[in-house]
Amino acid sequence: GRTKTQVVIVGAGLSGLSAAKLLNEHGVETIVLEARDRVGGRTHTIKGPGFGYVDVGGAYVGPTQNHMLKLVKELGIQMYKINTEGTSAVWRKGKKFTVDSEQVAVTNPVCLLDLQHLFRTLDRMGSEIPPEAPWKAPHAKEWDSLTMKDVFDKLVWTSSVRRFADMFIHINMTSEPHEVSALWALWYIKQCGGVKRIFSVDNGGQERKLVGGTQQISLRLAELLGNRVMLNSSVSKVTQTETGITVDTLSGDGFQGEYSIVAIPPPLQLRVSFSPSLPPVRNQMIQRMPMGSVIKTMMYYEKAYWQEKGLSGMGVIEDDDCPVEFTLDDTKPDGSYPAIIGFVAADKARKYTNYSEDERRDLICKGYAKAFGLKEMLHPTCYVEKNWLEEPYSGGCYTTALPPGVLTQFGRIVREPFGRIYFAGTETATQWSGYMEGAVAAGQRAAREILHAMGKIEKDQIWQDAPQSQEVPALPFVDSFYEAYSPSIPGLLSTIGLTAILGLAIGASFILYNK
Ligand code: FAD
Repeated sequence: GRTKTQVVIVGAGLSGLSAAKLLNEHGVETIVLEARDRVGGRTHTIKGPGFGYVDVGGAYVGPTQNHMLKLVKELGIQMYKINTEGTSAVWRKGKKFTVDSEQVAVTNPVCLLDLQHLFRTLDRMGSEIPPEAPWKAPHAKEWDSLTMKDVFDKLVWTSSVRRFADMFIHINMTSEPHEVSALWALWYIKQCGGVKRIFSVDNGGQERKLVGGTQQISLRLAELLGNRVMLNSSVSKVTQTETGITVDTLSGDGFQGEYSIVAIPPPLQLRVSFSPSLPPVRNQMIQRMPMGSVIKTMMYYEKAYWQEKGLSGMGVIEDDDCPVEFTLDDTKPDGSYPAIIGFVAADKARKYTNYSEDERRDLICKGYAKAFGLKEMLHPTCYVEKNWLEEPYSGGCYTTALPPGVLTQFGRIVREPFGRIYFAGTETATQWSGYMEGAVAAGQRAAREILHAMGKIEKDQIWQDAPQSQEVPALPFVDSFYEAYSPSIPGLLSTIGLTAILGLAIGASFILYNK
């Protein structure tokens, strides 16, 4: 016999558990099936003597992530701000220098013009894209036939800004610019609130972390749900009839309910056998949404040497021999366990996954010693890393990265219910999709779709914004006069009246100069 409930939820990540919590609050019975031997999915907090605790998956929260901030507050979890005191370290073309943290790795005034113009243009393009329906953007078809590389080829004049732009895609989307659709990447930035909101620490997506780590949210939600969360239960089959659904696991357990919520990443849905089969376009969609590539690394030191030198710990390292491209201070808020967190992403993740853990650690330490100018950084007290490429129940991280053509052809299908089956997971969100915030919001939305199907709420109650967090208010990003009105490099050249040919020659020499 199959265990009976009302709603069977597949996946005990933040999204599936948020759905279960909301349904329970409305008196609807749920069972959550989780393939792993733990809850939390792409959030995972590990503990150990050399580092206390650390998030090896999703970690940062910030302003405008209000569903997530509300949940954190409700569970009584404390947050702390990431240290940004001091200057950022940059390693470029075999040399180190420091920049003001806000200046994102560019010093030369020509490069600064180029960078401001790039940021302005990405946000301007994003302003045309409706977050809930990017395929309706006026230029959707055109932009979805280009990659971000094509966009950078057109927009960026200087090699320094080009490297920064590439790094921006690596770190935010764990993909190469040539792999991702321009429409998708522009949508992704837009639905996080723009270039500054997605990439900033202060007032941005990386402003804070949770004391005790992010996995405790899922652990606490699972505790509330009690024995309704079943671990080691990899769902292999979902069957639906006119009157209900049945769900079967690899281990041979069966569950029966009225509805199901599938809260696992879209590409992993390929491994579930649906009966009747998924609709044709959804069947094709799930083959076209690959997961990004990232290895997260934490290097622990005796002391926060960088802080003593006036460095924030933020670093940009452009060096083929260093696996890490971007760093932040990861010291605990009380100053214990001084650490640098480093992201290995996209092509570099695929390259360095073939090295041993010791080799990765040594190469990263060499990179840090050079970029921060501190020999002491060759000698860590502890090294922790997590390679998400190896995880069968994630497929990669942080989220799916869409190649050209997918969003316009398949995008509208991602959260479209199929009979009694509803879809959650961060990939189905319309704000901060790819993040914990998107996961929570999507879980709640899928739960309310079922409440509506059960006749418990109205259709217009399905999508609900969370109130702005009082502890973490979103400040507007006010562009300086310079940021708003500085000319682009081609604009500058035409303003000062040079001929097009001379302009090109100067442009070319900037590029050569920066190489
Ligand atoms: P998941 O967490 O993937 O949950 C899906 C669950 O389903 C998993 O537990 C999985 O084991 C289970 N499952 C899969 N297949 C089956 C099956 N067949 N049967 C049963 N169960 C199954 N987000 C942020 O907000 N801030 C960050 O700083 C941040 N950084 C990140 C850094 C890294 C290295 C990683 C990996 C992620 C990061 N993210 C970050 C992203 C964030 O962690 C995710 O967006 C979010 O946790 C996704 O939640 P989810 O519930 O949608 O999916």
